Amino acid sequence: MVFHGDKRMFIKHKVCRFCADPSLKIDYKEPKTLAVFTSERGKIIPRRISGNCAKHQRILAVAIKRARNIALLPFTTAKIRSREHREY
Ligand SMILES: [Zn+2]
Repeated sequence: MVFHGDKRMFIKHKVCRFCADPSLKIDYKEPKTLAVFTSERGKIIPRRISGNCAKHQRILAVAIKRARNIALLPFTTAKIRSREHREY
């Protein structure tokens, strides 16, 4: 981890979730899993915040982009939506 002295507002997971839990699959057909790693505006949360390892972040990014393409995830949202299950 590299810290640039920026204020880290919500870092909760230091360990890569997908390494910690091998049963957790990164699947573009599972928008619920992917949505945890996107911001309110639909952006992919960077690795330094999400705590994912490089390998899984890369797979995740591809999965999110695929999910966006088939409209399972938004590219962006104008209004902030309240999601019922958002745990970081
Ligand atoms: Zn990992």
